[in-house]
Amino acid sequence: MSNVTAIQPAQQPAPSARFKITVELDGFPVEIEAEGKADSLKTLIERLKTIGAQPPQAKASAKPAGGVPVCPIHNKPMKASQKPGTFFCPRRLDDGSYCREKA
Ligand SMILES: [Zn+2]
Repeated sequence: MSNVTAIQPAQQPAPSARFKITVELDGFPVEIEAEGKADSLKTLIERLKTIGAQPPQAKASAKPAGGVPVCPIHNKPMKASQKPGTFFCPRRLDDGSYCREKA
C-alpha cells in the first residue's frame, strides 16, 4: 500500500482567451478586443461579417494566409507549378494567350 494519493484537480471551467480582431468596416480599420472561448469568437466574426466587416488584408495582399497566391489580373487563385513553392495562372487573357502571372 502506498501513501501516494492522486491529486484530482478540481473541475475547472475552460479558460477563456483574449482576442484582438482587426476588421475593416466601410473602409475604416476597426479594432475589437474580446474575451471568451473560441466559440464566441466565431459567433462574433459571423456577426461582424453580417454587418459588412472585412478582414483588413483581404484586398491589400495578393498572398492570402492559405499560401496560394491570387492572380492580380484574373483575381483567381493560381496553380502550383512543378517547381515547389512557385505558382502560375492557368487562365488565358482576353487575346487568347496564356496569363503570364507567376508567383
Ligand atoms: Zn491570370
